[in-house]
Amino acid sequence: MSNVLQQFLEENLEALREQGLYNEIDPVEGANGPVIQVRGKSLINLSSNNYLGLATNEHLKQIAQRTIEQYGVGAGAVRTINGTLDLHVKLEETLAKFKGTEAAISYQSGFNCNMAAISAVIDKHDAILSDQLNHASIIDGCRLSKAKIIAYNHSDMDDLRAKAKEAKASGLYKKIMIITDGVFSMDGDLAKLPEIVDIAKEFDCITYVDDAHGSGVTGKGAGTVKHFGLQQDIDFQIGTLSKAIGVVGGYVAGKKNLIDWLKVRSRPFLFSTALPPGDVAAITRAVEMLMESTALHDQLWENGDYLKKGLQQLGFNIGHSETPITPCIIGDEKLTQTFSKRLFEEGVYAKSIVFPTVPKGTGRVRNMPIATHTKGMLDDALAIYEKVGRELGVIG
Ligand code: PMP
Repeated sequence: MSNVLQQFLEENLEALREQGLYNEIDPVEGANGPVIQVRGKSLINLSSNNYLGLATNEHLKQIAQRTIEQYGVGAGAVRTINGTLDLHVKLEETLAKFKGTEAAISYQSGFNCNMAAISAVIDKHDAILSDQLNHASIIDGCRLSKAKIIAYNHSDMDDLRAKAKEAKASGLYKKIMIITDGVFSMDGDLAKLPEIVDIAKEFDCITYVDDAHGSGVTGKGAGTVKHFGLQQDIDFQIGTLSKAIGVVGGYVAGKKNLIDWLKVRSRPFLFSTALPPGDVAAITRAVEMLMESTALHDQLWENGDYLKKGLQQLGFNIGHSETPITPCIIGDEKLTQTFSKRLFEEGVYAKSIVFPTVPKGTGRVRNMPIATHTKGMLDDALAIYEKVGRELGVIG
């Protein structure tokens, strides 16, 4: 290793460790289900994005296995060269139906969607109005475009309107895009899409919603844009296939000419190998299942409501989530980390989230109930919350 790299790594790793900011990653031993094994310990898992439990669904596992037998384990090439399988075409038709749009395009991850789609239409002559709490991949996708990035206060529609007005009136930008998460994953609140659409219409802005945590969860499963009935008004609907859908990948859904453009101008589509066939077949079936029945979705919401009510009755501050995402706001960063560590020792896996991911003094343990948690598991988790909460003085 070069001296300069060696020095850089030693200094910076040491600094992170000293500040207690070096994240030791826990390997999960086995499937990522409602209960997981970590370091030989069985834990109720409240940390996954596997909202509907589809990551371990038996039917989807069989479909993936059968497809691997027929197609092999890899797509073979990037999509434009030789990597578009009939399975990819079927997936994209299914996604368009699911989202209520003319067309859709899949990518290798949700992160990649934001690397792909923003800079395919936005450049240095443009501006992006971006919610202050947008996900890291949106922020990076915006940076890649080289546009002027104008952050607006979180879900503050007066601030967004004022900034859209100013950007339009300045005459400096050829295009202006408004970009937001559909569901904000740290608090579980929804973007104010009807107001965003009104502002976009007033100032002729492009609208872009990354609904990574909404797909499969809000709008009876079809996402936050559908929840508000705005399928015809949002230009870009982004989703992941790695959370509620349970596999891996991401997609953009929208008008056919937008998707045609992304197929010729979005770089991760053009230069990175396509999703593997077993995954594509499992994803397609998962999306079909969501269109056929809301049973898993309904169970997810029932579990979310049950956990929220239980934590609230115990006296915890669960913020103002509008989705099953249930933050338990502790405040102090150190106390939050101790709280999460004690939950682990008692049998609950729920991660602490602290500054800089959330504002200082709002440290929280974030709980993600899923459809396949049983009431018994949630009751056990609540009992552990009560024990640790009293022990650490978080509740009376
Ligand atoms: N966008 C948002 C809003 C997200 O929350 C996430 C995942 N945390 C991503 C994109 C990335 O998705 P993926 O894990 O599929 O790459």
